[in-house]
Amino acid sequence: MGREKNIRLTPPSQRLGYTSGMNPPDTLISKLLKSWNFLYRRGFIEGFGHISARLPDDPELFLLARHSLGPRANPGDFLVIDMKGRIVSGKGTIPGEYPIHLEILRARPDIGSIFHYHGLHSTAFSTSEHTLRAIHLMGTLFHDGIPIYEDPRLVSNPERGVALARALGTHRAVLLRAHGAAITGADVEECVGGTFLFEENARRAHTAASMGKPLWIDEKLAADAGGELLKSRGPFKRVWALVESDSENMTGTSA
Ligand SMILES: [Zn+2]
Repeated sequence: MGREKNIRLTPPSQRLGYTSGMNPPDTLISKLLKSWNFLYRRGFIEGFGHISARLPDDPELFLLARHSLGPRANPGDFLVIDMKGRIVSGKGTIPGEYPIHLEILRARPDIGSIFHYHGLHSTAFSTSEHTLRAIHLMGTLFHDGIPIYEDPRLVSNPERGVALARALGTHRAVLLRAHGAAITGADVEECVGGTFLFEENARRAHTAASMGKPLWIDEKLAADAGGELLKSRGPFKRVWALVESDSENMTGTSA
């Protein structure tokens, strides 16, 4: 009975062969997996994109979805990476644009999770005359501005990663001109919720711009509204409930 119990309780991270002392918490892997499935199924990834999360017990390590991860992900598809870009544990190839994650995490200790993707509507604002701002209440989460990183090339070396982190500055998100976006959060929930609402705001702005001159929310009002939302964390909780709901529908369980 005791032996059976031990087998059942062996964490997935140990079963996957992570090196002792560098085990990412199973809850974090589970959150990343749910996030990956959510973002993939809802069209945020479509072949291009990767998500990361800093290990809570070791801020110098982070989990990152492996290169070319498709719609069928499992817990073993997330690599543990150190701040030199080395794979510490896990199987698979590191994504070529890993410096996005490494350099932002290095520059911003307050950030615990990053998602990079090629959003159709948000990226369009890096290739038009319009500057993306809050046009919807939920877009006020990004009220302090959405900077643009000017280089459309892959962020495939440390120099470009550092430049991207510099462009992000103290903001929550950065657009990569003619390429995509990087959305950050203090944790996975904030990162995924932020991504969902960032793209939704861009979609609404795109619709408004196609109807004529978009009427952006006044800057001061946006700051007040965004401040309230960030304080309550309500939007992030609502989106995370969707992530959980999608996960339950996929597996037929509430695990
Ligand atoms: Zn990219």
